[in-house]
Amino acid sequence: MKGEVMDLPDDYEVVIGLEVHVQLKTKSKMFCACSTNFGDSPNSHVCPVCLGMPGALPVLNREAVKLGLMLGLATNSRIRRRSRFARKNYFYPDLPRGYQITQFDEPLCEHGSLRIGMGEGEKVVGITRIHLEDDAGKNVHDPQTGRTYVDFNRCGIGLAEIVSEPDMRSPQDAYLYMREIHSLVTYLGISDGNMEQGNLRCDANVSLRKKGEQAFGTRTEVKNINSFRFVKHALEYEVGRQLDVLRAGGRVVQETRMFDSHRGVTVPMRTKEEASDYRYFPEPDLMYLEVTDQMMQEAKAALVELPGERKRRFMREYGLFPRECEALVASKDLADYYEAVVRASGDPKRSAGMVLTELLGALNKDSLDIMQSPIKPGDIAAIVKALASGRLSSKMAKKVFAQAYGGQPVQRLLKEIGSKVVDQEQIAKWVDEVIAAHPDEVRRYKAGKQGLMAFFVGQVMKASRGKADPGITNRILKERLG
Ligand code: ADP
Ligand code: MG
Ligand code: ZN
Repeated sequence: MKGEVMDLPDDYEVVIGLEVHVQLKTKSKMFCACSTNFGDSPNSHVCPVCLGMPGALPVLNREAVKLGLMLGLATNSRIRRRSRFARKNYFYPDLPRGYQITQFDEPLCEHGSLRIGMGEGEKVVGITRIHLEDDAGKNVHDPQTGRTYVDFNRCGIGLAEIVSEPDMRSPQDAYLYMREIHSLVTYLGISDGNMEQGNLRCDANVSLRKKGEQAFGTRTEVKNINSFRFVKHALEYEVGRQLDVLRAGGRVVQETRMFDSHRGVTVPMRTKEEASDYRYFPEPDLMYLEVTDQMMQEAKAALVELPGERKRRFMREYGLFPRECEALVASKDLADYYEAVVRASGDPKRSAGMVLTELLGALNKDSLDIMQSPIKPGDIAAIVKALASGRLSSKMAKKVFAQAYGGQPVQRLLKEIGSKVVDQEQIAKWVDEVIAAHPDEVRRYKAGKQGLMAFFVGQVMKASRGKADPGITNRILKERLG
């Protein structure tokens, strides 16, 4: 995504808060032993518990709690040692129980934060709470028959809902926040973060207020956005729509809207429900969730270096630009790949250039993931080393890269090119040394003794121990000697 930023109004301020649902990567569902596997035939992973049969009792998935704790720790949240579940009652075909099991007044985590953006643009977004809950099934519309079916395979899969403070001030902020959450959960390995499969979905709340005003304006909530781009587009549309309403002297209606990605607009779904509409009450079939010291320790032990920390370490240790670090840590696999190149090449700067420009360029063109890269970190490192030593010009390095990416062995390519030094700066240095050491010959050459050129070339060859590329040497000598 390019850095295009919408024109924000200058008389109004945008206020955004997101509720992000993260599908937890557990083998079984939140309250039963059914598999969470995606893509299997409809209704093949169901049982009396997740189908909400009367009398079937839920049992909390311990692994889901651990993943929730990891998320809480990684966002510096306060962990509630005693939290509880609640029933959120509503009727919908994909919810056979008639209520969702979620957390209400005593969620697992509270008062966390997440940093988004970099450098000057960096800001902290508060996290109000993170709670555990279970997912609903999926309605599947068959355009051929005009019928709607329900697939309950997703019903009861564990989710963590991350509710942010209304701290974002533009659709771009919301986009960055989503990206940050995505990289956080994939780094932690607590979710696959697969957007197409709906592993990460968000509800975006947005309102406008006159600049300088303290109170928030009336918000609308755009439901169920499942791509980074859509968060931005939906919010841009919604900001524009609210702005039109307010400037025309009207009032924004508090309501729930839906993003129609084909038309790029949001449309009303229903007026906003209040918490009281859900008749929340404590879940009588589950005990209090007690987080023990051991559970805390296990969650802590499972934490890894997080993208934000890694970004800052890359800047510090490798002397890279903020932009480069940002791009490299965007996915854990990419960051790991890059560090493998650095370990083998010892040259962080050139390695970053090679990985970001050549490798990512080629992978993007082929729609490949870093894990599917046809070229290994060690091979990139070999090219980087040849480049650093002057054996390859940057132009030739690109060529070798392209051939290696196409499947040719790097070592052979490098051998074929030989050990000639083609780095212009390096050759220019030898040329200057030779010129400085032979003022007499230089004078005679300039007086017309053209034959001395061979002498100079020979001297440069000697200085470079035969490694300087003769063509380039000739050209630089001619430039220098006039
Ligand atoms: P619910 O949507 O379930 O009623 P909340 O009132 O807790 O829940 O708010 C949900 C989200 O809406 C939070 O992310 C919060 O930051 C955001 N939010 C609340 N008020 C506003 C507002 N006036 N403008 C924009 N976002 C808001
Ligand atoms: Mg909401
Ligand atoms: Zn089940």
